[in-house]
Amino acid sequence: LFRRSVRLAASRAELEHQASHDALTGLANRNFFAIRLASTLANAAADQRHCILFVDLDRFKMVNDTFGHPVGDRLIMMAAARMRDLLPKSLIARVGGDEFNILLSDADAHNVDEIARNIVAAVRAPFEIDTVQIAIGASVGAAVTTGPCDPVELTRKADIALYHAKAAGRNTHAIFGSHMDELLSDRRALEAD
Ligand code: GH3
Ligand code: MG
Repeated sequence: LFRRSVRLAASRAELEHQASHDALTGLANRNFFAIRLASTLANAAADQRHCILFVDLDRFKMVNDTFGHPVGDRLIMMAAARMRDLLPKSLIARVGGDEFNILLSDADAHNVDEIARNIVAAVRAPFEIDTVQIAIGASVGAAVTTGPCDPVELTRKADIALYHAKAAGRNTHAIFGSHMDELLSDRRALEAD
């Protein structure tokens, strides 16, 4: 009975890990990130700054199409490891195919520009897989907030900033600013007209 309960506890821990982590990279998954983001923002002190970064690899589909899915998978793993090395204290999640979300730790949230730049530079360095050098890039969208904040709103802002980084030619970063919302409402008005 004792041995069985030890085995049950171990398999429960294993299942919990699987439910909150991405199998390919070992990073947190979308669900875990959303839960942690919501609780962090809900419990934020009035003067505490938080920042989320949305990272999307540039032209990643080309890697799959040219070298095959297994090489694409290894590149995702290596890109994830580079980000983890760069930000060992931050929560990094793989939330989709080539998409990552990062919740910066408090001190880093004051240094967003430099950190986003470092991520772009880290992913831009060529990856060596099976003696082949593969060069891709990354675009980063950032949103910063002070005090308690709605996670949905912060996510929306980071997503818009990422769109701007992609539209600016990729391999770069953008930090959300209110002018981005103005551009969006102008575009909506134009579409409605
Ligand atoms: P963009 O610069 O606009 O981001 O272009 P992209 O080619 O990176 O396109 P996008 O981000 O829209 O597509 C990501 C691709 O990632 C689509 C899919 O083929 C691939 N993908 C999704 N999940 C996986 C995965 O688990 N492994 C591999 N190897 N590829 C994946
Ligand atoms: Mg991409």
